[in-house]
Amino acid sequence: MNRSDIIIIGAGPGGYETALLAASRGKSVTIIEAGHVGGTCLNEGCILTKSLCRSAEIVREIGESGTFGVKSGGCEVDFRAVMERKNTVVEQLRSGVETLLGHKLITLVHGRAAFKSADTVTVDGTGYTASDIIIATGSKAYIPPIPGADDPDVITSREFLGMDSLPGRLCIIGAGVIGLELASVMAAFGVQVTVLEYCREILPRFDADIAKRLKQSLVKSDMSIVNQAMVQSIERGESGLEVKYDLKGRSESVFADKVLVAVGRRADTDAMNFSDMGIAMTPKGIEVDGNMQTSVPHIYAIGDVVGGYMLAHEAVAQGRKALDHICGIENDIDLSLMPSAVFTSPEAACVGLTEQQCKEQGIPYTCRKTFFRSNGKAVCMGQTDGICKIIVAAGAGHDGLPSGDADGKILGCHLMGPHASDLIQEITALMSCGATLHRLESIIHPHPTLSEVFL
Ligand code: NAD
Repeated sequence: MNRSDIIIIGAGPGGYETALLAASRGKSVTIIEAGHVGGTCLNEGCILTKSLCRSAEIVREIGESGTFGVKSGGCEVDFRAVMERKNTVVEQLRSGVETLLGHKLITLVHGRAAFKSADTVTVDGTGYTASDIIIATGSKAYIPPIPGADDPDVITSREFLGMDSLPGRLCIIGAGVIGLELASVMAAFGVQVTVLEYCREILPRFDADIAKRLKQSLVKSDMSIVNQAMVQSIERGESGLEVKYDLKGRSESVFADKVLVAVGRRADTDAMNFSDMGIAMTPKGIEVDGNMQTSVPHIYAIGDVVGGYMLAHEAVAQGRKALDHICGIENDIDLSLMPSAVFTSPEAACVGLTEQQCKEQGIPYTCRKTFFRSNGKAVCMGQTDGICKIIVAAGAGHDGLPSGDADGKILGCHLMGPHASDLIQEITALMSCGATLHRLESIIHPHPTLSEVFL
């Protein structure tokens, strides 16, 4: 029997980062992966999309170059080269992860794991045992039961990110994070994009102001977004795929060459025989407590398989929680303080409470708003479309400061604008220290930078 201190099942960001941290603490780790190391993020998700986002950004900048006094000879996208670059990025990062997992305390096993008992798993007939097991098996795209969704040109982001040519017309079902990021990239490449969203607004989990403004901005960049669209069926005809939908009682349709289904992901609860072990489940995935411990002692679960926001950095933080618990180390990671970003053009990002959540929870707040059009760096960049909202506790003073909204604790921040995904980290750091708006205002920010938007 192969024995180690910890078995980790799944080598996505949650699994491999936890393995590296465990090894750095002197723990022996067996990490088991059925596919490539790096998981969805590195092999079929975030990293691939971000590589395409960068290509799209360059296309946009060339298109706008005249505005900056630069003559450009136009811009034709070589999609094959775009995808080859994306593959090179993935291979480079994957080989980096493989090298790191070469640590002398880590054994990487390729294959599909199944539970034999609460401390033993098997892979292709070989048994592996450990005192603690961490499940990090991820999620898979959800395909709703729409008639016609089995057509080969109706695809998920996984197939989409492996395409070798651009579709002329693309219909995206779902204006969530995946749908909008890929819509933004495809619109920049000249694809005719229509996004159909079931809810009244795009990005239902985001602040309503940000969602509304982002929609306006994306529509300006040449795509169509239809809210309150209930997709009924997808039919193949002479003009390609016809996506039929109901719009407030009216029957409408849109024609497309490819249909991307991006209506959410689900915990991959079929990945292993969890039920044989009596591991308790919730409707979203594996049930865990605040230390990521499942109902079976010494079995932990982290990342997409427990539901949640399904973000790579969330999985990494949860992995640290689980490992600290295994090692008997106290930690103060606040898993509710989870920054999140959407890599559209312009980007959107958020952390903490929205106005809506403050209202629902009866928390007194004030909202401070500022616009990127008054930020010198944004004007120089020609990227002035954006807003910054900071939600501040109102009422009693905090941290010994007098009462008044300017002295209130920062409760949340919601951004749309250039580099929003990077900017949000300043507020995340401040919030993790319980800082007030007054504290933020007294921090010197370099000029001219986008970070001055917070002042
Ligand atoms: P999502 O939950 O972000 O969005 C799904 C959208 O589809 C929602 O707006 C929903 O209202 C809509 N929808 C659901 N059913 C529909 C239907 N039948 N017709 C039309 N619209 C419908 O899901 P996603 O975009 O698929 O992303 C999956 C997960 O991956 C998310 O949890 C997300 O956080 C994560 N992710 C994050 C990033 C990032 O952080 N940048 C990038 C990609 C994915």
